[in-house]
Amino acid sequence: MPAMTPDVPMIAAAQLKKRFGSNEVLRGVSLSVAHGEVVALIGPSGSGKSTFLRCLNQLETIDAGEIRIAGELLVGTDAQGQCRYAPEAEARRLCRKSGMVFQHFNLFPHLTVLENLIEAPMVVAGLARAEALQRAERLLAKVGLSAKRDSYPARLSGGQKQRVAIARALAMEPEIMLFDEPTSALDPELTGEVLRTMRELADERMTMLVVTHEMGFAREVAHTVAFMDEGELVVQRAAREFFADPGHERAQAFLDHML
Ligand code: ADP
Ligand code: MG
Repeated sequence: MPAMTPDVPMIAAAQLKKRFGSNEVLRGVSLSVAHGEVVALIGPSGSGKSTFLRCLNQLETIDAGEIRIAGELLVGTDAQGQCRYAPEAEARRLCRKSGMVFQHFNLFPHLTVLENLIEAPMVVAGLARAEALQRAERLLAKVGLSAKRDSYPARLSGGQKQRVAIARALAMEPEIMLFDEPTSALDPELTGEVLRTMRELADERMTMLVVTHEMGFAREVAHTVAFMDEGELVVQRAAREFFADPGHERAQAFLDHML
């Protein structure tokens, strides 16, 4: 196993290609995320951001390219151009290094908040109930929702649901957090509490790849901005530089539209 040095990217995707039928959704996308780095992935709707994110934890398979997680090969392409995934147990272990938060929360509606948090640690990670509960209580306190431990998701606001979803992802102790437009489904007055939770995670040096339309978050919290358009990663540069000069016509047009 490669040593955990800051030089080895936590995510290294190279030349990812993906098509749905005749629709070429990823056209050779390369992006890496360093240990402790926060990358904001931005771009127009339909540009392939969600698909890219889903490929990183095998919610989608790729057609070509290579993905390394913390230096280890999840999938590569052989000399014949065939995609080769790591053996199943190995792939599962690598995918478990990342936690994912979706736009629509995806909480289990028939489980309470606390039960949502202990499910995967017990069933997938094999934790004893007491240990899973202890972890869940700690994470609920962290996202400021201890009082909601016995509530069902339907009784929570969108912002609270999303904070529970973040806590649930953290309960598997991921090394990487993937966010797919975590605030896009929320009323504007509820986005702040979710962005605050994400900012705290960033302050703790969590490695984060965040698909977002929140340019304020991208500017203030992300170290790096990556701009995608029509299945291509057009530009990836330091956030400060990007907002001063996106360096590409399509990125500039997108930014002008967003700001
Ligand atoms: P974004 O997240 O940037 O809005 P997506 O990755 O969701 O973009 O979608 C990129 C393209 O891939 C779109 O044209 C979308 O319709 C298509 N697409 C995404 N998922 C699927 C799927 N499961 N089956 C077929 N087409 C899909
Ligand atoms: Mg999307």
